[in-house]
Parts: sequence; structure tokens; C-alpha cells
Amino acid sequence: MKKIIILIILLTSCIDKMKDQAQKLSKEIIIADGHIDLPYRLHKEGLINEKNINLAVNSSGDFDIPKAKSGGLDSPFMSIYIPSDKSENEAFKLANSLIELVKNIIESNEDFEYASSPQDVIDNFKNQKISLPMGMENGSAIGEEIKNVKVFFDKGIRYITLTHAKNNQICDSSYDEERKWGGLSEFGKKIIYEMNNIGMMIDVSHVSDDAFFDIMKITSKPVIASHSSPRFLTPGFERNVSDEMIKLISENNGVILVNFGSSFVNNNSNKLYNEIDTEVENWRLKNKYEISNSKVLEYRELLIKDKNPFADIDDVLDAIDHINNLVGDNHIGFGSDFDGLGNSLPRGLKNASDYPNLIEGLLKRGYSKESIEKICYKNFFRVWETNLQNRQI
Ligand SMILES: [Zn+2]
Repeated sequence: MKKIIILIILLTSCIDKMKDQAQKLSKEIIIADGHIDLPYRLHKEGLINEKNINLAVNSSGDFDIPKAKSGGLDSPFMSIYIPSDKSENEAFKLANSLIELVKNIIESNEDFEYASSPQDVIDNFKNQKISLPMGMENGSAIGEEIKNVKVFFDKGIRYITLTHAKNNQICDSSYDEERKWGGLSEFGKKIIYEMNNIGMMIDVSHVSDDAFFDIMKITSKPVIASHSSPRFLTPGFERNVSDEMIKLISENNGVILVNFGSSFVNNNSNKLYNEIDTEVENWRLKNKYEISNSKVLEYRELLIKDKNPFADIDDVLDAIDHINNLVGDNHIGFGSDFDGLGNSLPRGLKNASDYPNLIEGLLKRGYSKESIEKICYKNFFRVWETNLQNRQI
């Protein structure tokens, strides 16, 4: 009996030690995240034209200053998200307003700073500032003008997610039932060359499988998947990356930034969210409500409460383990999708204050400090830096 008690005490103190170590590491190491939807959340909250947005008190979402500080988050990529129903003209305008919004956020909060390269983030980190680099989610904003890639680069955008929920002028989307191009369009190929030349990272999240393979055939620079998880965990879900794709990304020296969303890391959650979304849509159509009607969201929340579709932080760790087992630890990072997922974050990883839980999980699974550093930022920064080298402008 005594022996058992001693063992339990030892075990508890070991777990406590790992918790402390994770807390310490989260502050010591730069934590980068490839995809946070703060700009569009603020846009939806009607704050797009506000000049002064205090992120120290705006706490309605997954990301704000107190949460980022407590979680040790240093470099969250702000997603300049363009919904697929916007015309190319509207998309260009919205992208510019959201970029302006990020500037306003930086200017009105002294904890934030601009960053357009890994070195900027490292310098800001030393000055205890949180960097807000930008990526654009949906190449529709480029319109038909190749020169717009450089226009957006010059405004601070460092990656472009080629498409979103629908096929666009560049390529097909994994979410679109129709496939317009069978992969990349001819214009899309030109965009890839231009992005490579300019030093703009290519984000393969959201593209169809055929588009992905077309991209990998022609890109001369490493790519990112800014918020995707292994399809191995969610068979048939094209929005995630298959083992074949993970291997190709590793050969290309790119990185997969793991999406934390429940439906991205757990098959049962994926099915439950599908059921919920179908049920909500049928209910909405029956009641003739607009998508934006608050009653629709309320009904969704009711179903979520009823079905409890949440995954667990261990599922996110499984996603990391899967990539690690397949191609090693040089091609993994974080792409939480915070503020972009609605109510679908897993238990233990609900917002930007929870990165230490993830580090604790990695320690428990035997990842070394060196490995954790790679996952937290070094892999992502390697890809970012490589893209910025040998720019042809
Ligand atoms: Zn997305």
C-alpha cells in the first residue's frame, strides 16, 4: 500500500513538473501560429472601420492580448479572409480593408508590432512584442492581375491561400462539388511562378487534391498548409492532407501547420459537425432565415450542446504524432484556425491561452525541447525565410 502511495506521489510530482516545464517553455520559445481569423471576426462584429480597437479588453473571441500573453503566443498570422461569394472587385476591396484593420490593431495596441520576416518576429520577441504578420485566405482578391501578387506583398501579405470554399480563377477548392479546372487553371500556374518569384508563400490549405498535385509539380519554393490536419484521422475529408500529400510536402521541405478544429482531428467529431451543419441548414431553409440571422447561430449552439461533438487536445497531439511518424519533426507547426472555427475547438485547447497544454502534451509524448522548438516556430520560419531568399523583383 505504502509503495503504491509513493508511486502516486512520484507520478503526480512528475506530471506537475511537466506542467511547469511546459509553462516555462511557452514563454522561452517563440510560438508561431499560421492562421488566426481575428480580422474577419472583428469585421463581423462591425469593427472594420474602427480606428482604435483595444485587444486587451475585447475578449469575445479565441484570441486577444491577455490570452496570447498567457499562452506565450508570439507570432499569430492574421488571416485576411475573403468569403468565396465576393466578386473579384469586392474581394480586392475587402482584402485592403482587412489589411487596414490589422494596421489599426497594431497602431492601437502597444503590445503588437508589424512583422514581414522571421527576423522581424525574433526582434519583436526580444522587445516583448507580439508580431502580427499577415496571410491572405483566398486568391480571389488577386483578380485577373498577376501584378496584384506584388501589390499585396508590398502591403505585408506573406502567404496566399489559393482558394477557399469555392473554385476561383486560380484553382479548384476541396469544398466545391464541381471541379472547374481539374486542378490549377492556366492563370493559376502563372500565379504560382509569380509567388515563387516575389517570395510570397503558397498555402495549399483548401485547394482540391488535383490542384495540390499541380502546384507541387511546378513550385520552386517550399509550401505551407496554413491550417490543415492529416486526412488519416478523418478519412475522405479532402480539406485535410493525405499521407501522400504530407510526404510530398516534406520532400519539398515545406510545413503542415496543424488545424486544431475538432472536425479536423477526429473522425467522429467530423461526422457530428456534418450532421449538425446539415440539420441547421435544413432548419434555416424551412424557416426562411438568412444565414446571418442570429437565430441560426442559436439553433446551431443548441445542437452542439445536445450532440457534444468536441474532440480532445489528445486528437491534436495525434495529428502531430502522425506527421512526425510519417516524415519526422521538420514539417510540423501550428495553424489553430482560432476565431475561424465557431464553437468547435477541442477540450483543453479552447483559445490562445492554451498553447502550454499542447507543449505539455508534447513533453508527455516524449518530444525533446529541440523538437518542440521546431514545431513551435522553427519549421514554419525556415519555409518563410526560404521563400524570401532569391526574390526576383
Ligand atoms: Zn480556412
